[in-house]
Amino acid sequence: MLKKSYININSILKKVKEKNYSFVFRKVSRIYPFKITPFILKQIKNFSFEDPIFKMYFPHIDELKSFKQKTVDPYQEKVYGKVFKGKIPILVHKYPNRALIVTTNMCPAFCRFCMRKKNWGKSFLIDNKDLEKILDYLKKHKEIEEVLVSGGEPILLSKNILFSLLGNLEKIKHIKIIRFASKSVINAPNFFTDDLIDKFKAFEKLIFVIHINHINELIEENINLLKKLSKNFKVYSQTVLLKGINDSYKELSKLFKTLRDLKIKPYYLFDCDPVKSVYHFKVENKKRDKILLKLYSTLSPLALPFFALDGKAKALYLPKKYISYKTLNN
Ligand code: SF4
Repeated sequence: MLKKSYININSILKKVKEKNYSFVFRKVSRIYPFKITPFILKQIKNFSFEDPIFKMYFPHIDELKSFKQKTVDPYQEKVYGKVFKGKIPILVHKYPNRALIVTTNMCPAFCRFCMRKKNWGKSFLIDNKDLEKILDYLKKHKEIEEVLVSGGEPILLSKNILFSLLGNLEKIKHIKIIRFASKSVINAPNFFTDDLIDKFKAFEKLIFVIHINHINELIEENINLLKKLSKNFKVYSQTVLLKGINDSYKELSKLFKTLRDLKIKPYYLFDCDPVKSVYHFKVENKKRDKILLKLYSTLSPLALPFFALDGKAKALYLPKKYISYKTLNN
């Protein structure tokens, strides 16, 4: 049994340096709730928006600014949804050889830049009936080679459902890879007990994709977990480029090199999508391209993720104004 730990938000708010922050906090979190874990509190060095981890999780007034032209469904999941739970797509088939399973919308903490924050209020977890429909679709679509098990946070599924899902995916011959996408590896590593890791070893197609945006997210507990995972599985990382959090060459290169040293392959660096209440995290294109150019020109391919624009279709992006070719000398 995992121990529940209680967080006293009033005592945390007292530490925040911004003026009148309690008022802003309550106003914003009434619309987009606040949720945090004790591990995240350990990652925060300074309770102000100057701190990258604080900025990732604490409500900001900019979330309420109107972005009328911005979408709430950047990936067009409603269009490409093939199995639904109520109105929420739980199986999305957008790219021919890949499918996404949205196992839940629950997370142990809420990232303020979350593209799916519109679903935060309506908690769900997939059940056996959903599982049947999802597997039925996947079995019929032999073109699907990779399945992304995501959420929300898939580790929150009941272990019966989770292992039934993984076991069944493992048995479908045309599915070659099961990508398990998790932010909890970083912000709630206590979910990954040794016993659970042992059980995961039964799935040969399983790889882990962790979500990490800043080197300050690494603390003793999740470093230990990452070492255990990378000993037993292939582990990849994905990062979102976020204004005021990691929008510099220095921060990103530090993060990617550290991940490489932990035997984790930086896999995707995503642009921030034009989503309502999130788009204030978008890094201006000119600044973004400068950062990318420097990353492309200096990092070893082992430490260099693909930069991808998502939205209607996932596109690999190179700032073509600057790049004609890259000499690989390492
Ligand atoms: S962990 Fe992922 S799904 Fe959950 S709040 Fe953060 S970005 Fe959203």
